[in-house]
Amino acid sequence: MTLSFHPPQRTLMGPGPSDVNPRILEAMARPTIGHLDPMFVAMMDEIKILLHSAFQTKNELTIPVSAPGSAGMETCFVNLLEIGDTVIICQNGVFGGRMKENAERCGAKAVMVQDTWGTACDPQKLEDALRQHPEAKVVAFVHAETSTGVSSDVKTLVKLAHQYDCLAIVDAVTSLGGTELRVDDWEIDAVYAGTQKCLSCTPGLSPISLSARAIDVITNRKSPVQSWFLDLNLVMGYWGSSGGSGSKRAYHHTAPVNALYALHESLLMLKEEGLEQAWARHALHHHALKAGIEAMGLSFVVAENERLPQLNAIHIPAGIDDAALRTTLLNDYNLEIGAGLGPMAGNVWRIGLMGYAARKDNVLLCLSALDDVLSRMHAPINHGVAIAAATAFYAQ
Ligand SMILES: *Cc1c(COP(=O)(O)O)cnc(C)c1O
Repeated sequence: MTLSFHPPQRTLMGPGPSDVNPRILEAMARPTIGHLDPMFVAMMDEIKILLHSAFQTKNELTIPVSAPGSAGMETCFVNLLEIGDTVIICQNGVFGGRMKENAERCGAKAVMVQDTWGTACDPQKLEDALRQHPEAKVVAFVHAETSTGVSSDVKTLVKLAHQYDCLAIVDAVTSLGGTELRVDDWEIDAVYAGTQKCLSCTPGLSPISLSARAIDVITNRKSPVQSWFLDLNLVMGYWGSSGGSGSKRAYHHTAPVNALYALHESLLMLKEEGLEQAWARHALHHHALKAGIEAMGLSFVVAENERLPQLNAIHIPAGIDDAALRTTLLNDYNLEIGAGLGPMAGNVWRIGLMGYAARKDNVLLCLSALDDVLSRMHAPINHGVAIAAATAFYAQ
């Protein structure tokens, strides 16, 4: 006989999912109602309004896709690209590579602009590629590269794309709710995010927002969108026009009802806190963590001016077994941090301070756990000073 599954209570300080606020879990456990129930439809309208403020946009097409962040990515690519189109992708980590996969599966040509992992996308390289490829239709890049902890300059990159008559697709999976993101001011054409990073919601939904320019391109396509499920022409019929109750809903798929309760609650919490206050909170706890990490003698991978507060990539001291340390953190402290990806595997830890996980108690837990486990592994660190450095920072 199989027993019910009871997961342990972990502290999630990896690259996502992040700690889910209990208030969000409680919202998710409320009674399931029909996805066309007028009460549910009214809640969907509220989600759209809350997403407008989270994304800082007035875009009518602002909805959560009923699938994780990768599906938000795919939604942008399959709707905007057709066979034979050219897309320029700035890659500086894992997720730019996933964009290439998406573009090629749409039958588009992907021109890759490569930057070293751990550095931001270089606007000069993008401009060179735009000059060499006047046929390009779309530029795509990641705002907050979770694989390395790097932030790229969205405003500058989007401006360049527009100067060369391209639409800009921006991956904001890890930036939404964590660092400054202004979809309208920065004139982003298509943006997608995730629920399980800085929104601290459960995984499985991808908020997206598309500009009028992007919708124009979609409605003037020569060929139908290859994905039935992600075809925004059809999804829009289900989510209705923005705002206002009573808009007509056509059945498209059964919305993940309870997951949307969770998203609603998480967006409400973001609104209660204030978007800029949430950005400031991520920065505050990042600086406290940094004080402790550096006091220990450990160092960051990314230069300070390109560093993400919500994803801290840290060099693993020489001779320390990456997997053994992470296993001990999990077993002794119920604490999850992330491993390095791709060329950084084995060399880097990724400590997430995302959403509800960006808290003082988490910072102190993580520092004391690292101090303890690294000392036991005989790592060459300054033992017993990290907590004092972090608390001194908080006391400032
Ligand atoms: C997590 C992440 C994704 C993918 O999201 P999933 O929900 O895992 O599909 C895409 N881009 C970035 C930058 C991410 O951090």
